[in-house]
Amino acid sequence: MGHAARVPVLMYHRIGIAHNAWEARYTIGAAHFAAHMRTLAGAGYRPVAIDALVAWLEGGVALPEGACLLTFDDGFRGVREHALPLLESLGWPFTVFLVSDLIGGQDVWTVGSNPSGQTYPLLDADEIRDMQGRGCSFHSHTRSHARLPTLDDADLADQLAGSRAALARLLGRKVDYIAYPYGQLDERVEAATRAAGYRAAFATQPGFNRSDVNRFRIRRLDIFGSDTPAMLLRKLHLGSNDGSLLQFGRYYLARLASHLPGVGR
Ligand SMILES: [Zn+2]
Repeated sequence: MGHAARVPVLMYHRIGIAHNAWEARYTIGAAHFAAHMRTLAGAGYRPVAIDALVAWLEGGVALPEGACLLTFDDGFRGVREHALPLLESLGWPFTVFLVSDLIGGQDVWTVGSNPSGQTYPLLDADEIRDMQGRGCSFHSHTRSHARLPTLDDADLADQLAGSRAALARLLGRKVDYIAYPYGQLDERVEAATRAAGYRAAFATQPGFNRSDVNRFRIRRLDIFGSDTPAMLLRKLHLGSNDGSLLQFGRYYLARLASHLPGVGR
């Protein structure tokens, strides 16, 4: 069995029913999510724990071929209802990034974006503590789902360190990782994230992660609720959010061309 040279990180959000086109991007139905997991298993992907991924990036242990990471942003209750039993039965670890001020609340930051204004319930403290013993590791998604680059230095530090401390109290363990809300970051946000004591941070820039990736800009593939299993596999194969057949064809033409004498490059 070989070692992984590049590791994809999958990003999901809510599991449940999408009520409009906006929600469909961030919401995957329970049966459809199960189909995604079967597709991953059938293609030889095996999710690893977030600590194993970061240890690999820090230059430690090798990861097996097929290693990937499953992440869920925001901490929706539907993840517990629909993903936990399945992932627990598969023995697959996964990670949820929590908004620490909104535990037991709703995703109120979406009110201005979701055309219906509908919000959805987030995990409460008891649910989180129960999941922690069942293969789920929890990390930070800031205090209030803030747009970090827009904050002044004091508010930025509060969102980063405040959520880390609150979650450490709730979970009874260290909180080493964060996912930037909306994937928004810049040099100052990255420096403040390091200063707040995090060991690694997850962005939303698509692509694979090689072992030399900036650990404070770990790439993730945005998996949409509308993605068919075939689309999911193409995204993983290409390391791109664009798993369209056109993109897939271009990729193979480019590879083919690079192997022909005098063509390509
Ligand atoms: Zn989020």
